[in-house]
Formats: sequence, C-alpha cells, structure tokens
Amino acid sequence: MELKIKELIKRYKSKTALDGVSLTLGNGVYALLGPNGAGKSTLMNILVGLLGQTKGSVMLDGREILSLGAKYRARLGFLPQDTGFYPTFSGEEMMRYFAVVKGIKNASQEIDELLEFVNLSEDKKRKCGEYSGGMKRRLGIAAALLGDPDILIFDEPTAGLDPKERMRFRNILSRIGRGKLLLIATHIVSDVESITDNVILLDGGKTILSGTLAEVISSAEGCVWELDCEDSFADEYALSHAGASVIKTGSGTRLHIVQSEKPFDDAVLTTPTLEDVYMLHFGQVSVQ
Ligand code: ADP
Repeated sequence: MELKIKELIKRYKSKTALDGVSLTLGNGVYALLGPNGAGKSTLMNILVGLLGQTKGSVMLDGREILSLGAKYRARLGFLPQDTGFYPTFSGEEMMRYFAVVKGIKNASQEIDELLEFVNLSEDKKRKCGEYSGGMKRRLGIAAALLGDPDILIFDEPTAGLDPKERMRFRNILSRIGRGKLLLIATHIVSDVESITDNVILLDGGKTILSGTLAEVISSAEGCVWELDCEDSFADEYALSHAGASVIKTGSGTRLHIVQSEKPFDDAVLTTPTLEDVYMLHFGQVSVQ
C-alpha cells in the first residue's frame, strides 16, 4: 500500500496552513510531530477527506482518494481529537451505531473483540457520558478499528490523558499491528518514541524533516551535550537557556544541553533521543 501526498497546499483565507507538503507513506507507524499551529490537524483532516486541499493531491496506490470515495473510506479508521460520543449511549451501543454508519453487518462479535482489545469489556454497558477521558479515547480507538481498516489516522490521541492512561494507550497502539499504516499526530514525543518506525516533523505548514526513527534521531548527533555540575549552577543555567534541562543522577546533577556549538570546554557529547531532535528544531520541549 502506498499513500502519496504531493505538493499539498491548504489556505484558510490569508493563512497558509499547509505549504507544499510531499510525503510517501506505506505500512508502519508514523509519528507526525510539530508544535501547535504546525498544520498537523489540517493534514489529517485532508487525509480523511473532511477537508479539501487548495492545491496538490493525495493518492492511494496511484488513485486520487477523492475519486476512490467510499472505497477509500472503507479502508480508513480515524480517531479525531474530539470523538463526540452520545452521552446517553453505552460504549457498546455507540459501537453498534458506528458499525451501522460504516455499513458493517453482524458486527456483534467484532464489537466484543474490539472492546476487549481496548480493555473496555467490563464498562461496555456504562453510559459514554460517565467515561473518563482515557476511556473515551480507548472507545474511539475501538470505533476507528471497526471493519479492520488498514489506514489509521489518530489526531493527538494522548492529549489530556494522565500518565497511567498514556501508558495503556501506548500498549494498545503497539499492539494494533503490522500490515497497517498508522499515522499519529502529537506534540508529546515521549508517547510515540517507543512505538514509531518513522517520524515526520512539521512546522509552519512545511515538512522540515522526515525519515525512519533512527535517521531522524541521528540528525541531532553532535548537538546533545552533558556536563556534571553544581545544583545551583545547573538550575540557573536551565532557567535562562531554552535548550537546557537538569538531570538528577543520584550521585549529583547533570546539565543536558541541546545545541550545535559546544557549550562548555568540559561538556561531553551524548546520544540524542527524539525529544532532543524536537528541542533542536522547535526550541521547546514537546509537552506543553
Ligand atoms: P496543529 O494541528 O499542528 O496545531 P492546525 O492544522 O490546527 O495545526 O493549524 C495550522 C494553522 O492553520 C494554524 O495557524 C491555525 O491557526 C490555522 N487554521 C486552522 N484551522 C483554521 C480555520 N478553520 N480558519 C483559519 N485558520 C485556521
């Protein structure tokens, strides 16, 4: 399977939200990273057909997605930021409703399996209005997986979740399986670093970097420094330098600094993480 995005441009009146994005996606997990306003939601909304582009094309295996219509939508599972469940429906009823909307007949067994998969079997008779944010997000994943689509698009799936739900979510995402294209937009790098195969960095409507996780991380090699130092110096330095953070090591304090120039004579280079890449390009940590 190949989803080819070519020279995509989206303008909202005077605002250019996407400014010539070109990407080729296949099976695998893709993390779409960028700060707020980068254009992530706009790109996702175009990919799921909720929004039309101003220019450019999106092709699935050589055919324009708009011309594929229902055939494309049948292969698509979308988890929007706001899932909009009916509060008086139970989780199970909501799933039955989505199955009808997707045109899936005799969905009872599939619904049971999906609710089990996202760990909601015990709560399936409870009303959606009583679900926590994390439960709603898990129900949203189950709904997106109805009909076994092979193109999954998740918009900010972990925003607003507590750490326990985020861990649960990562486990679910990593089990969704191979043989599918899973595109996850997020500005929380730590939620995707352990599960993604590929990374796309988007800023100001442009792709500033894309590649395998290893390729993208290696782009920050030579730019991540560490230095053991006094507590008070580390705290003060980190407060006044955007790329610096403090690590308590147990035996002392270490400054972690992301920048291309060597910050101190005795600073040593260290192996970068995806969070460092984010810092290098966006000048901020990913969690906001
Ligand atoms: P992200 O999802 O990365 O936060 P968005 O795709 O939501 O980014 O937004 C990209 C840019 O487009 C932002 O500057 C945003 O303000 C603008 N934008 C998004 N939707 C609209 C809209 N309906 N009308 C005007 N501007 C919009």
